[in-house]
Amino acid sequence: MAFTEDDRRFLDLAIEAARTSMSQGGIPIGAALVHDGTVLAVGHNCRVQKGSAILHAEIDTIERAGRQPATVYRNSTFHTTLSPCFMCAGAALLYEIPRIVIGESRTFEQSESLLRDKGIELVIVDDVRCKELMDALIANSPELWSEDIGVESVALESVELDGTPDPR
Ligand SMILES: [Zn+2]
Repeated sequence: MAFTEDDRRFLDLAIEAARTSMSQGGIPIGAALVHDGTVLAVGHNCRVQKGSAILHAEIDTIERAGRQPATVYRNSTFHTTLSPCFMCAGAALLYEIPRIVIGESRTFEQSESLLRDKGIELVIVDDVRCKELMDALIANSPELWSEDIGVESVALESVELDGTPDPR
C-alpha cells in the first residue's frame, strides 16, 4: 500500500512527538503505533527525559501502547520519524508489525534490508520536517546523537549507514 492520507496524519503525530521531545531538551525522534486506523500510542525518544538507554521512540511507543494481543500488532502500522535501528526493528519483527512508515532514512539507515527480507512493507516518506529535526540535533548536540546510536562521538563521520558494524 502506498503512502495514504491516514499515513500522513499519523506521521504528523510522530513528528509532533519528536518536536515535543526536542522542546524538552531530548532527542527529536517520534513514533506512533496505529491499529486499523486507531492510534494505540504515540511516543518519542526518552534518552534525556528518563535517562534511558533503550527508550528509542519506537520502543517508548510500544511500551505506551501497553500489553496487546498478537493479532493487534499483526494488523498495525508503525510510523516513525527516522529509519529504525536494529533494536527497534527487532521489536517490530518480534511482534510481526507488517508495515512501517518511515519519515526519513537520510540521517540514519541500519535495518531496512533486514526488515524487507523479513517481509515487512516499508514506506519511505523522505519528509523534510523529519530531516530538519535530526539536522538540528546533530548541529547542536552531536554527542547526544552518537550516544543514541552507540557510536563514539569522534567517529560520527565514519559511521557505516549500510548496516555494517563500525569496526572498533
Ligand atoms: Zn531504535
